[in-house]
Amino acid sequence: MSDIILFWHRRDLRLSDNVGLAVAREKTPKVAGVFCLDPNILNRDDLAPARVKYMAGCLQELQQRYAEIGANLLILQGDPRQAIPALAAALSAKAVYWNLDIEPYSRERDKAVSEALRYKGIAAETFWDQLLHSPAELRTGSGVPYTVYTPFWKNWSAKGKSQPAPDLQNAEPLTEKELLAARDAGAGELPWKELGKACENPLPVEPGERAAKEMLEEFCYRAIFDYQEQRNFPATAGTSMLSAALKFGAIGIRTVWAAAKDALKQCRSDETLASVKTWQQELAWREFYQHAMYHFPELASGAYRQHFKNFPWDDREDHFQAWCEGKTGYPMVDAAMRQLNETGWMHNRCRMIVASFLTKDLIINWQWGEKYFMQKLVDGDLAANNGGWQWSASSGMDPKPLRIFNPATQAQKFDPEGEYIRQWLPELSSLDAEYLVTGKISPSDLEACGYPAPIVDHNQQQRRFKALYQEQKGGSI
Ligand SMILES: Cc1cc2nc3c(=O)[nH]c(=O)nc-3n(C[C@H](O)[C@H](O)[C@H](O)COP(=O)(O)OP(=O)(O)OC[C@H]3O[C@@H](n4cnc5c(N)ncnc54)[C@H](O)[C@@H]3O)c2cc1C
Repeated sequence: MSDIILFWHRRDLRLSDNVGLAVAREKTPKVAGVFCLDPNILNRDDLAPARVKYMAGCLQELQQRYAEIGANLLILQGDPRQAIPALAAALSAKAVYWNLDIEPYSRERDKAVSEALRYKGIAAETFWDQLLHSPAELRTGSGVPYTVYTPFWKNWSAKGKSQPAPDLQNAEPLTEKELLAARDAGAGELPWKELGKACENPLPVEPGERAAKEMLEEFCYRAIFDYQEQRNFPATAGTSMLSAALKFGAIGIRTVWAAAKDALKQCRSDETLASVKTWQQELAWREFYQHAMYHFPELASGAYRQHFKNFPWDDREDHFQAWCEGKTGYPMVDAAMRQLNETGWMHNRCRMIVASFLTKDLIINWQWGEKYFMQKLVDGDLAANNGGWQWSASSGMDPKPLRIFNPATQAQKFDPEGEYIRQWLPELSSLDAEYLVTGKISPSDLEACGYPAPIVDHNQQQRRFKALYQEQKGGSI
């Protein structure tokens, strides 16, 4: 009889290019997967229905893939600190393996699970999988973690990257007796229909490993070569749409990197080379923010910059509500918020625009926006979201922090024909592009379209923000 290794899936909902799972299979043919529906996560008030639905779709496919190779994915519901050690003990597993995460909650939880397993005499082995370089691998010349992206990128990009890990194959199934023991320890059916019900709208991206691979292939076939320019236009499908897959690990980061490297080899011009490199830099931003969250977990609960800790935000509830609903009277902002509300996704350019608008025009605490994004985004991810919000609010690690986006200038540059605005604000679709992008819509047109007048004046508010910022910083900008 082979020893059982239990592999605990978390943000790695796939069988291919999964570091911990591949090592488990090297050690024994009897690898059983487990996923634990954790109430500490599922009951949070910033959980997005789209994210739950995406995760349920990934799990459904993962269970099928395990069955196809003759093995099992067990589903637990409950606190992993008790549920995982109890299942491992019931199966007399030799060890439990999992891939590490950078989030403060996961790190604490994992420590407790390791201790509980050791107490039961079961080994716990952990691996880095979701990053190309673990947080311990990158340090500045003076031996401290990076807080600035450009030197991080230089060091990170110069390092050799691992090849994709081998797929899980030829694993042995659990016996009937072991399955019964697992059931007694709480393993049950995946309540995917119930989980999926949380979100009535169709998802903006198809969940699962197969769909993620197809999306990567499609993107690297064409759009990656125009990425540098096209990524900024929200009406264009110019980006990979892989963020949810990367968040839940429906695709391995080594696979993604290998595809980008292959694309580099196909480049025949400086423009295409620059495009692929720009995309690689986005993957590095993802890692930069994850490293930052690992080394400075306090980022999760507040501003990085000292002078932002007590910033005198206006925090007007009515303005926040208008922003959430896409009713600020700024068409570019409102279109983006409607896209988020209706689909669970928003284009990166628009994320920057609406975040700047909330913090610099409405002068509302960035943490309100951070939470709202988490409540809606299919790809909502603590490190990337917090990083994006702190960058936009000027409270983060950015060395040139005071950026203020003018929504009209942004629309003129990145949605010049008003295509994106028309798509998400159908009530304005009959107006000329000029009015849509400048937002200068006559009172009679506003009334006829049932669209609100601007709730604040951009120029006035940016002067106010700068004055407040200067005050907090003690004089200089
Ligand atoms: C205020 C704000 C909030 C954000 N919240 C999130 C979030 O919750 N989850 C999330 O994954 N991204 C977040 N981002 C980053 C970015 O907007 C999304 O990663 C991107 O829009 C996803 O689309 P894509 O997969 O087509 O990206 P692509 O342009 O194809 O990029 C490839 C991948 O690189 C990563 N990436 C790209 N840009 C960034 C970035 N700026 N920071 C970190 N990683 C990046 C993502 O994993 C993405 O899938 C946020 C940005 C801002 C400004």
